[in-house]
Amino acid sequence: MDFEFSAEELAFQAEVEAFLDEHATPDVADVCRENMAQIVDTPERRAFMAKLAEHGWLGMTWPKELGGQEKPGIYEYILNEALARRGCPQIGKGVGIIGKTLIRHGSEKLQREFLPRILNAEIEFAVGYSEPNAGSDAANMQLKADKVDGGWKLNGQKTWTTSAHFADWYWVGARTCPDKPKHDGISLFLIPMDHEGLEVRGLPTIGDELTNEVFFNDVFVPDDYLVGERGRGFRYISEALDLERFTMFTYSPTEQRLEELVDYVKEAQRDGEPLRQEPGVRTCIANLATEAEVARVLGLKFVHAAGQVGKKPPTVEASKYKLFATQLSQRVGNAMVDLAGADGQYRVHTEGAPLRGRPEMSYRYSVIDTIGGGASEIQKNIIARRGLGLPKNF
Ligand SMILES: Cc1cc2nc3c(=O)[nH]c(=O)nc-3n(C[C@H](O)[C@H](O)[C@H](O)COP(=O)(O)OP(=O)(O)OC[C@H]3O[C@@H](n4cnc5c(N)ncnc54)[C@H](O)[C@@H]3O)c2cc1C
Repeated sequence: MDFEFSAEELAFQAEVEAFLDEHATPDVADVCRENMAQIVDTPERRAFMAKLAEHGWLGMTWPKELGGQEKPGIYEYILNEALARRGCPQIGKGVGIIGKTLIRHGSEKLQREFLPRILNAEIEFAVGYSEPNAGSDAANMQLKADKVDGGWKLNGQKTWTTSAHFADWYWVGARTCPDKPKHDGISLFLIPMDHEGLEVRGLPTIGDELTNEVFFNDVFVPDDYLVGERGRGFRYISEALDLERFTMFTYSPTEQRLEELVDYVKEAQRDGEPLRQEPGVRTCIANLATEAEVARVLGLKFVHAAGQVGKKPPTVEASKYKLFATQLSQRVGNAMVDLAGADGQYRVHTEGAPLRGRPEMSYRYSVIDTIGGGASEIQKNIIARRGLGLPKNF
């Protein structure tokens, strides 16, 4: 496997960078938002995504008969990492998670209704798996879907639904077969976010991310909006999570932060001495640079293992990448606070703060990296069981 880009891939990367030089304006691109930058949460950010769509850069890996170009995954990787590196909105949720899962499992009706709208950047999704008693144990979800004439009636609660306060559609798991074992009793639905009976309440979190509780009160979903087969929802969710662990936890923002930190170390003084001469500082930076290379390679290994859309995403590669890359993101955040000294505590964007005040934001935001999309312990369990064949621990 070649870890360097080919001439054609480098040419595409240059094309993307030229596009970003022109369009990644401060109203859409902000690295100081850390990983939250990926969220398409303002009209300006939606307009930016529409420009990507005009370039034919959404769904590049999708099958041609569904509007894609059947390009290798490395093109989507190059695009998404370039977007992430500049703090732009990203293609992860629509193209990377919902679109790819619909391509594998959605009915023709759902594919026809949703895939063109994803390709044209006309639609934003919220993802609803977690509930008060279903986080790591996602299969324990209790949101109830009762069969009624022509569809389903949903009652109960989700929590931690990011984007529910602005998304157009809700991608949501619910229990349709309460008498079946928990993994077999779940189905996946698509629901308009402004549906009567859905109530969204904001939950502000440590990294400034606004996530949400969502309450369902007799929400009717027609049969057509059940994704795939009844009772197979947890399998689809597991695949979607493999995609999420890769596409929504990009590597390049960590690399970019580390580069800013290295530039700071080269210039800064502590007690009248250059920081760069401190052995502990040099060791710390050298370790992080080495680990960043490991994260990059794990990401590329996922891309190569994933192959063409339509294939099941590689679970163990997704978990290894997510585990290492997100823990590294936290280590870089910690190092920024340590190395910036007392001034590292200034809030982000404070005038005169070292590193634009990013240390404290980076430190706060990177907490979620190792929780969202499945906590680090869950990734370790997956690697131990599925990758190494060790027995289940619970
Ligand atoms: C800001 C934010 C945004 C989020 N956005 C979304 C979203 O959009 N959609 C969505 O569905 N969810 C979302 N989540 C939820 C996220 O996926 C869950 O928080 C996560 O899966 C952990 O679940 P939990 O919070 O219930 O913790 P718990 O599952 O209660 O875990 C608590 C601790 O126990 C550990 N643990 C649990 N089980 C095991 C085990 N078997 N072995 C070893 N250790 C274990 C965990 O690793 C963790 O450290 C979001 C969360 C946050 C904080």
